[in-house]
Amino acid sequence: MCEVAWDDSDYCILHTELPHDTETHELRRVLAEKDKRVKEKVDSNDFNFEGMHLAVIDLSRMTIAAGLNFRRAVISEKARFSNTEIAGNVLL
Ligand SMILES: [Zn+2]
Repeated sequence: MCEVAWDDSDYCILHTELPHDTETHELRRVLAEKDKRVKEKVDSNDFNFEGMHLAVIDLSRMTIAAGLNFRRAVISEKARFSNTEIAGNVLL
């Protein structure tokens, strides 16, 4: 389970579903927070995105040494992997 719950969710920001039927302001806030957390994960070489709900993820031009996990993840817009080098297991 998630270590830190986000707002009134049972989950962290990355495992929280994207809001539907919400104001643009709220959606922007959620997306900005997700982007920030994704960047923190990537910066610490953590590429385990299992079960996470993201709009966009761009791992282009990265070297991923210890595998990549997108099992049960939901990417609602796009995922980019141009010139990404991945060693280890890739779980989709
Ligand atoms: Zn979580």
